[in-house]
Amino acid sequence: MIHGSIAPVEPVSWQNLLADSVTDPAALLRRLDLDPALLPQVTAAAADFSLRVPEPYIVRMRRGDLTDPLLRQILPVGEELLDQPGYVSDPLGEEAANARPGIIHKYAGRLLLVVSAGCAVNCRYCFRRHFPYEDNRLGTDDWIKALEYIRNDPSIREVIYSGGDPLAASDRRLAWLTKEIAAIPHVRRLRVHTRLPVVIPQRITHGLIDALCGTRLPVTMVLHCNHANELDTQLAQAVRTLRQAQVMVLNQAVLLRGVNDRLEDQLALSEILGDHGVLPYYLHVLDRVRGAKHFDVSEAEASQLVGRMLTRLPGFLVPRLVREVAGEHGKVPLPVELMD
Ligand SMILES: *Cc1c(COP(=O)(O)O)cnc(C)c1O
Ligand code: SF4
Repeated sequence: MIHGSIAPVEPVSWQNLLADSVTDPAALLRRLDLDPALLPQVTAAAADFSLRVPEPYIVRMRRGDLTDPLLRQILPVGEELLDQPGYVSDPLGEEAANARPGIIHKYAGRLLLVVSAGCAVNCRYCFRRHFPYEDNRLGTDDWIKALEYIRNDPSIREVIYSGGDPLAASDRRLAWLTKEIAAIPHVRRLRVHTRLPVVIPQRITHGLIDALCGTRLPVTMVLHCNHANELDTQLAQAVRTLRQAQVMVLNQAVLLRGVNDRLEDQLALSEILGDHGVLPYYLHVLDRVRGAKHFDVSEAEASQLVGRMLTRLPGFLVPRLVREVAGEHGKVPLPVELMD
């Protein structure tokens, strides 16, 4: 080159970041300087529910520290393989609420569309870790039928893109679907529940904004951020882009032992969400899914924790403490014990 300049660095696409996710237990242990002696148990747990974590999430973890709150959410561990009474494969009875492929209709007035079966990250506590996504992989015919289902039920006022992770779908797919839904007069709102931008903030592109925000429907995005360390500058930039496009951004978290069960973790999460204009919406107690018992925090402890938050934060930064109960038409609010 004439002036000895170097070519500008192309930003890496989210698709490449997704494709390059770490799925090999040995590679993850090496990447984070973790004890190689962990390999047999990590491999055994990953055989039940595979390891998957993208690099932009790994960079936010401390090396060589098994107690890192982000690592704990994705590292397969031996405890997952213990059989625990009361912890089952389908704790929410979603297979029963699966009205037709791709549709989960269990909340009044809103309907969940399983837009994409895939996830960018495999969270060890996930209540859908045993969900039969393969049966919910939709072809064009299924999409037409799902849209027909929405069109034929005037009680559906809100469509919620769900998954897997709905943002694992292409912008083209999302743009088409959103246009079709916006053409159904009784649908008034669109919502997206996603963890993908938390692990790959590069997913929030102008193409995605155009796909989601190009219709009459107001858009809400509910991020699934569990810890303040997840909100790095790249995610903050992604949130800014969403808010500039008039997207209402909320957060829901799961209360997880060893990840965010201390008061200081919850305060830090709420404060940093508030700094970026994201409202903490829900704090879920763990769904009792097989393999996740080691994350459980009792309801009594949860209600005291949120009670302490109420005395330290403005009300709008305190999430609602809820449990998801099979067969209920919404989340069940849990009592909060006011604490000093
Ligand atoms: C709770 C929940 C909903 C519905 O939430 P509401 O805000 O109560 O309507 C949709 N998607 C996911 C993933 C949820 O956890
Ligand atoms: S991103 Fe959500 S659906 Fe996917 S594994 Fe994590 S918690 Fe489960």
